[in-house]
Amino acid sequence: MELEEKLAILADAAKYDVSCSSSGSRRRNTPGGTGNASWAGICHSWAADGRCISLLKILMTNACIYDCEYCVNRRSHDTPRAMLSVEEIVRVTMAFYRRNYIEGLFLSSGIIRSPDYTTELFLQVARTLRERERFNGYIHMKAIPGTDARLLEQLGRYADRMSVNMELPSERSLRLLAPQKSRQAILSPMKFIHDRLTEAEEEKRARRKPAPFVPAGQTTQLIVGASGESDRQILRLTEGLYRAVGLKRVYYSAYVPVIRGAHLPVIARPPLLRENRLYQADWLIRKYQFTAEELLPETAPDFDLELDPKACWALRHRELFPVEVNRAPYEMLLRVPGIGVQSAIRIVKLRRYGWLSADSLRRVGLVWKRARHFLTVKGRYYGGGPSLRNDLVSVKTQRAMREMSLFEGQV
Ligand code: SF4
Repeated sequence: MELEEKLAILADAAKYDVSCSSSGSRRRNTPGGTGNASWAGICHSWAADGRCISLLKILMTNACIYDCEYCVNRRSHDTPRAMLSVEEIVRVTMAFYRRNYIEGLFLSSGIIRSPDYTTELFLQVARTLRERERFNGYIHMKAIPGTDARLLEQLGRYADRMSVNMELPSERSLRLLAPQKSRQAILSPMKFIHDRLTEAEEEKRARRKPAPFVPAGQTTQLIVGASGESDRQILRLTEGLYRAVGLKRVYYSAYVPVIRGAHLPVIARPPLLRENRLYQADWLIRKYQFTAEELLPETAPDFDLELDPKACWALRHRELFPVEVNRAPYEMLLRVPGIGVQSAIRIVKLRRYGWLSADSLRRVGLVWKRARHFLTVKGRYYGGGPSLRNDLVSVKTQRAMREMSLFEGQV
C-alpha cells in the first residue's frame, strides 16, 4: 500500500479521538535541532461534525486485537486496515513539520499483539524523533491501558503529553461495550503518570531539576451517548478524575453512530449539544469553582439542552439573586449568568474608583441581556418580566446554532 493511501486510512480512523490539545507545553529548539513547541501548540482544525482534527493526527495502525463495540477499528469490523512503520511516521512527521503543515504529532493506535508491544513501537517513534531527528516539536502519545509502567516511564521522557482514554463512564458499560478493558487497567496508567508528575513537582520545589516527564500533563476522553449514563454520572466522574489524577483536561466525544452493535443505541445524529453542555459544565468546574453536585443535583441528573448549565443553576437558586454588582464578592459575580472571569475581574477593579452604573457595566464586557436578570445596580433592578427565560434561551440557542453552522463546511 502506498504511504498516501495508508495516511488517508489512518488519519480518518484517528478523527474519533478528540483528546488532543497541545496547550501547556513549551520546548525550545536546540542548536542544529528542528522545531519547537509553544503554548499555542499544534495547529488543528474542525471536522464537519465539530471534532478537532490535528493536521498530523494519525493512528500507527487501525488494526486492533480488541473488539470494543463502539469503535470503527474493532477487530470484527470489516474495514480496510493499514499500518505505518516507525520510519514512515518519523519521515512524515519531519516532512510535514518542515513544510509548516503541522506543529507536532498526535499518535494513537489500535493494539497490535499487546499493549506493551504497541507502546514499544510508540517509544521507538518518540525516541527517533527526539534523538536522531532532534525534533523539538510537540508530541502527544497514547498511554495504552495494560502497559508496563517501565515503558510508560520511558515514553514519558519524550512525550509532551500523554492521554489514557477512559471512553466509557462506568465499569458496567466497559463490561458491555469494551469487555477486554477494565476500569482498573485504565486508571492504573493515569495514576502512574500522576504520581510521576507529583514527584517532578516535589523535585522542583526542592530546587532540583526533575528528569523530563510529560510536561504538558495527561488528558482523557469520554464517549457521550454510547452507553446509558446520565450527565450527572459523567460530570461526577470528570470531577473525580481532575481531583484524583490531576488531569489537564477531559474531552467529550459525542457518540457517532457509524457502526452497528447489539448494545449500542440507535440514534440519527451524534448528541453534539449534550457534548457542548458537558464542555460548558467542565469549564465551570475548572474555572468558576462550581461542583458537579451543584450543576447536576440528584433531582436534575441531565442537562437542559436549551439552557447552559450556569443559567440552569442560577434559575434553581433564585433565592440568591439579585446581587448588588457594587458589593457582591468576586466569587458570587462569577456565578451570575452573563458575567465571565474577565468581566468579573474588571468589575472588581473598577469598583475601587467608585460605584458602577448600568452604563459603565455594559463596557466591562458582560452580557447585559442575561446578567440584568440577576443583578441590581446601585439598588435598581433592570431584569425580570416574562423575557427572563427567553433572554437566556435565545442567546444560548442562537450561539449553538451559529457554532453548528460554523462547523459545517469546514475541513
Ligand atoms: S482498543 Fe481502542 S482501537 Fe481497539 S477496538 Fe478498543 S477503542 Fe478501538
